[in-house]
Amino acid sequence: MTIDQHTKLYGVVGHPIGHSLSPTMHNAAFYATRVNAVYLAFDTTDIEGCIKGIKALGIRGMSVTIPHKSAVIPFLDELDALAEQIGAVNTIVNNHGFLTGYNTDAVGALRALEEKVELEGKTCVIIGAGGAARAIGFILKNHGVRLSISNRSVESGENLARYLDCSFVPLAEIENVSMDILIHSTPVGMYPHDEQCLIPREILTKEMVVMDIIYNPLESTLLKRARSQGCLTVDGLGMFIHQGAEQFRLWTGLEAPVEIMRGEVEQALRVGT
Ligand code: NAP
Repeated sequence: MTIDQHTKLYGVVGHPIGHSLSPTMHNAAFYATRVNAVYLAFDTTDIEGCIKGIKALGIRGMSVTIPHKSAVIPFLDELDALAEQIGAVNTIVNNHGFLTGYNTDAVGALRALEEKVELEGKTCVIIGAGGAARAIGFILKNHGVRLSISNRSVESGENLARYLDCSFVPLAEIENVSMDILIHSTPVGMYPHDEQCLIPREILTKEMVVMDIIYNPLESTLLKRARSQGCLTVDGLGMFIHQGAEQFRLWTGLEAPVEIMRGEVEQALRVGT
């Protein structure tokens, strides 16, 4: 594909950003659909300056990642209703200088789970109380899931549980809770600390669906334990691909080539980029 005077620019802003697989995923999608665009990674702590740059240079769309997902909100012109309710933005669409913020993490997690399990009426414990747990909890609640939150810090766990109008379970007491779905939503177990896991094997029973939103490694220690106990497992790559597919749709109006995006990211994970 030729880069020329018509090529549109997209990207991701965050800090640090060196680990991001978003450029791999989105450039594969642009290439496969013959959209004349490129997607780059920008490592920045200056989110206000970044927003000015997006407008000044006519950058068409931006992914937003840690630590800017909430900090970016005051600089945008408009928020989509879901992003406003969640209080975090992971996607910016630039429509002729008018910037709208969206949250596609929630939809990404929902689609990844729905590929494996019917959600309505299920009980679910989310471990973690950060931005990802908030987005996932919000959308699952709206899809009829009966939620509990568990977290290391009781204060932030209780705050999220209050926001989601659900119960809080201290991490140390999680073995006393029965659940259909367990979602791990903290960085514990991420490369290079692959051996770490917050969940003891004994609480994983074969009737449970276990999702880990970490995708590097693709099969975390938690998912290995869950698989060995006979649980249905959902890795974090599904969420990552589906949130990216929704970004692609918002930016281009086209359906995303999901399987191509997944294949490219899996390949990058295998070679360790
Ligand atoms: P965050 O806002 O920084 O939240 C981190 C959460 O993890 C907090 O609840 C924190 O508990 C908990 N935590 C951190 N270290 C811990 C430890 N050593 N022991 C126990 N709990 C610990 O992060 P986030 O944005 O929610 O993201 C969480 C993870 O999800 C990250 O690894 C991120 O890469 C991944 N993620 C994946 C996707 C995807 O598409 N698959 C999308 C978004 C995020 P305290 O409150 O006690 O500090």
